[in-house]
Amino acid sequence: MTPFDGRGPLALYVHVPFCTAKCPYCAFPSAPPGEGDEDRYLEGIGREVRFWASRLKRRGLSSLYVGGGTPTRLSPSGWERLIRFLEEAFSFRSSTEITVEANPESLSPEHLEIWGRWRPLRVSLGVQSFRDEELVALGRLHDGARAREAAMRIRRQGIPLGLDLMFGIPRQTLRTFAESLREALSLDPEHLSLYQLMLEEGTPFGESPPEGRAEEGYPFYRYAQWRLPRAGYGQYEVASFALSGRWRRHNLRYWLGGDFLGLGPGAWGCLGGWRYRNDPTLTGWRARTDRGRSAALWGERLSGERKAREEAILALRTRWGWSPGETSRRFGFPVAEAVEADLLPFVGAFVRRQGVRWVLTPRGFQVANRIWEALV
Ligand code: SF4
Repeated sequence: MTPFDGRGPLALYVHVPFCTAKCPYCAFPSAPPGEGDEDRYLEGIGREVRFWASRLKRRGLSSLYVGGGTPTRLSPSGWERLIRFLEEAFSFRSSTEITVEANPESLSPEHLEIWGRWRPLRVSLGVQSFRDEELVALGRLHDGARAREAAMRIRRQGIPLGLDLMFGIPRQTLRTFAESLREALSLDPEHLSLYQLMLEEGTPFGESPPEGRAEEGYPFYRYAQWRLPRAGYGQYEVASFALSGRWRRHNLRYWLGGDFLGLGPGAWGCLGGWRYRNDPTLTGWRARTDRGRSAALWGERLSGERKAREEAILALRTRWGWSPGETSRRFGFPVAEAVEADLLPFVGAFVRRQGVRWVLTPRGFQVANRIWEALV
């Protein structure tokens, strides 16, 4: 029996493990689907949804995030089935925040039509750049024109738009990054996520790094931190900027604590302090769901100082920061004191006091990884 507290609204993540082609830098569990894979996936999701629904007793949903992979690689009829499974099993409310990821090359009018009929939601579009040569360098299947067109179709439908952009792309300069950012702002998104290109182990880029990549990501990041607030987008997390109040509540659940259920191959979840990861392969995940079991391949229960430290790191990712008082109440004064002692060397340029909490400064966001290393 998996442990969870069974109370309170739930954040739900559904992983769609398909992509049209594999990008050379990507370490996410995703692959081009073979024949029959979409059916196999949907049957598995149906079973996994029912497995959890019977245990969670139609717990209300605070948020739903359908990510991937590429959720728009799922056919429109596949989407209809997925929606049916979710609606039958979970209790949606008018306040449930729904976000779906889309990629420009596979977003179709049918997807938009189905989402428009379903419930109010927002779309997070994986643009990465509006420059054709940078998109080619990343191995992406769309060009700048296609990205623009997809974003405009979403906006025309009246759907709130989020855009993902990347920096550190081969041959990208500060000027071309600024142009992509300007183009993104002209599309009137409510949310922007910025990621640095990472060379992940086990990926083609990890094995053989591409030429012409800016080693130093800070100038790009600093530029975004300067430019975006001037356009009305506040930074509320290391990689996230949004118009006032348009923060992603789903992501805040990851950073500020609370239960989230992950479904699909490779999905992470955390229920009542039990953190787990599903089998990342479609075959392995399906075998588990077929046996009517949890699809978790790995799980652990975090407690004590380890949990307190992880919570502090996650909270510091956000603009609301970390409260030593809360940690002291939940884990004891010595634990809060030990975490705070490791944070003190960064106070000043990188960390500052805001009421009873510690928060990162803009420079602190730039060197966040160094701070996490000290706290972990
Ligand atoms: S589209 Fe996204 S999830 Fe798919 S391979 Fe590329 S980076 Fe990975």
